[in-house]
Amino acid sequence: MRDKPFTILGIETSCDETAASVVRGRIPGPGEILSNIVFSQTEAHAPYGGVVPEIASRAHLEILDGVIERALDEAKITLQELDGIAATAGPGLIGGVMVGLTTAKALALCAGKPLLAVNHLMGHALTARLTHGVEFPFLLLLVSGGHCQLLGVGGVDDFRLYGSTIDDAVGEAFDKTAKILGLPYPGGPAVEEAARSGNPKAYDLPRPLLFKNKQDRAGADFSFSGLKTALRQLAQDRRVSVADASASFQAAVIDILRDRSRFAMGLFRADFPDANTMVVAGGVAANQAIGAALAQLCGSEDFILRAPPPKLCTDNAAMIAWAGAERLAAGANGDDLSISPRARWPLAVR
Ligand code: AMP
Ligand code: MG
Repeated sequence: MRDKPFTILGIETSCDETAASVVRGRIPGPGEILSNIVFSQTEAHAPYGGVVPEIASRAHLEILDGVIERALDEAKITLQELDGIAATAGPGLIGGVMVGLTTAKALALCAGKPLLAVNHLMGHALTARLTHGVEFPFLLLLVSGGHCQLLGVGGVDDFRLYGSTIDDAVGEAFDKTAKILGLPYPGGPAVEEAARSGNPKAYDLPRPLLFKNKQDRAGADFSFSGLKTALRQLAQDRRVSVADASASFQAAVIDILRDRSRFAMGLFRADFPDANTMVVAGGVAANQAIGAALAQLCGSEDFILRAPPPKLCTDNAAMIAWAGAERLAAGANGDDLSISPRARWPLAVR
């Protein structure tokens, strides 16, 4: 086991955040975040109510160099002092991933350092080790703008998929709900805010795939598109209350997440009988009502809930740097410079 901590530069460009970070630490963590620069392109995409891939990749190209310089400056680290350069290589919007990965390749080549082509989902998955030093194995609920999955994480190379969305990601459902109700982008925080003054029982919205009895669909899969359609129909009535609709939507999402997580807990316990840690990650984990519901579920099922702080739940490069450190520690020598960016790259398949 190596005694010296790893110092890694991370680069993240897979969606609408241009981010660079320097992280130092030993496995299993916690690690030290020496810098964490996140430039969110929210304003550029706001007029469209969602991320426009072409706008995103052009913006990454324009500002990434400066963001990396700032990350190194703030950390007071030179390229020569790094143990490796990690960048998101997928999954994500391919134009953005190309910008980040190509920049990382150039830096790795110039500095003579290992390149670590990181799976963005692995970054989210291992963040709780960076922040809390959580030991393997743990159950992971990943809820973001592009993903909604329940995974058993047994190690850096051991991801078991228990369930994923068969249509929209949960963050996407929040964003679309905001658009339907005339709330600002990004939708998650706006819907949560509106829901605070609403009645969650005002409208009876569907809870797709909820596991009520044995005849229902088994597994821990999610579906949100029926909920979105119901909401669109509801919103056609101009007397609809935005606060009540937001609260009713959020209550339905919470029921779905709670039910699917409880089911996945059973699958996780069958795989890892002695483990009892649940980690929640991704931008939607910033939602306080969802966090409270998951904490309650963990309490009643004898699980311990670990949630990274909101700043490290949404897209960032510290998690990419950390995943790079994990891979180096697990024996990776660095990836070949010919490695390609990937729009799709599942962590695990069933
Ligand atoms: P990420 O994809 O991890 O960068 O997270 C962005 C997604 O998280 C977007 O879809 C947001 O709408 C969603 N999000 C952020 N904050 C909240 C919140 N408080 N409640 C629900 N969703 C949120
Ligand atoms: Mg994002």
